[in-house]
Amino acid sequence: MSEYTITFIKNEQPKEKPDSDHLPFGKFFTDHMFIQDYSEEKGWHNPRIVPYQPLVIDPAAMIFHYGQTIFEGLKAYRTAEGNVQLFRPDKNMERLNRSNRRMCIPEVDEEFAIDAIKHLLHIDQEWVPSAPGTSLYIRPFIIATEPFLGVRPSKNYQFIVILSPVGAYYESGINPVKIAVENNYVRAVKGGTGEAKTAGNYASSLIAQEVADKEGYAQVLWLDGLEKKYIEEVGSMNVFFKVNGKVITPALNGSILEGVTRNSVIQMLKHWDIPVEERKISMEELYDHYINGELEEAFGSGTAAVISPIGELAWNNEHMIINDGKTGAISSKLYQTLTGIQYGTVKDPFNWVV
Ligand code: PMP
Repeated sequence: MSEYTITFIKNEQPKEKPDSDHLPFGKFFTDHMFIQDYSEEKGWHNPRIVPYQPLVIDPAAMIFHYGQTIFEGLKAYRTAEGNVQLFRPDKNMERLNRSNRRMCIPEVDEEFAIDAIKHLLHIDQEWVPSAPGTSLYIRPFIIATEPFLGVRPSKNYQFIVILSPVGAYYESGINPVKIAVENNYVRAVKGGTGEAKTAGNYASSLIAQEVADKEGYAQVLWLDGLEKKYIEEVGSMNVFFKVNGKVITPALNGSILEGVTRNSVIQMLKHWDIPVEERKISMEELYDHYINGELEEAFGSGTAAVISPIGELAWNNEHMIINDGKTGAISSKLYQTLTGIQYGTVKDPFNWVV
């Protein structure tokens, strides 16, 4: 436990809650937010939960100019008994500090950050929706707030947590998507910031997503930034392929974001005695497996969708139709099991929920 005490200012004008049957992602926010400041003299200090409100930030704040910032994304789930639970928040806070180290942002106390999130959740607990598949998305983030235009790490920061009720990712059941292999733009390079959850990675990915969307694809499959040969991620998810009974996922190489869902999928597959390989996989190799009839399933993994099956992969002029464009058995079992653990309807063999 940490030595900080969180001060609390109650929102005396709570908002009307949105209709839980219509909750688009990231549009509604709860009544309160958590903030903590950082200065060189005091370190992280003054943790507080205050009414949700706009920030007052100097226009010279370094976040606006050089993008020194990191964020996280996790969810709180309401169980059938009415309790609220989190899925592996320790992994998100570990990753938050990995991102901090990469972006020269001072690390936070991970245990305290989880306590602060739980405290905020407790205050805004009525905002955790209960309709099937809904959840409360948690967005912790840190911004560089020092007003200074020189290029160097900021001396001041704010750590903020906001909460947003979100609807079910799949409105009518888990559903395969069409993906375009991205041969032009890259998401990240080795030595770059790909393995950090930082804003610039997402800003630079928008253009590829925009092109894919116009061409009728849900997301792009990112290749490595050097040779554009090896598979890295799909949209903002990690990616898995089932080939000849084995599951293959790109090994963490410095340019891939280590997903909490990725880690959970790997552990669960091993628990089921399904072989998993973390290694380099090229588009050529994947295509060969496809032509030989060995590519059985493909799916993305991430907090938002949990599992997102890939029904079609467009690569140059080839349209690879995977598992007849249907959700595969492993994808489906992973989806049912992981969401079951998150909502407390399936036994949690790893004590992932807290
Ligand atoms: N890759 C990227 C680039 C992401 O933004 C995300 C979402 N955080 C993921 C993978 C999946 O990570 P997680 O399973 O922790 O949501």
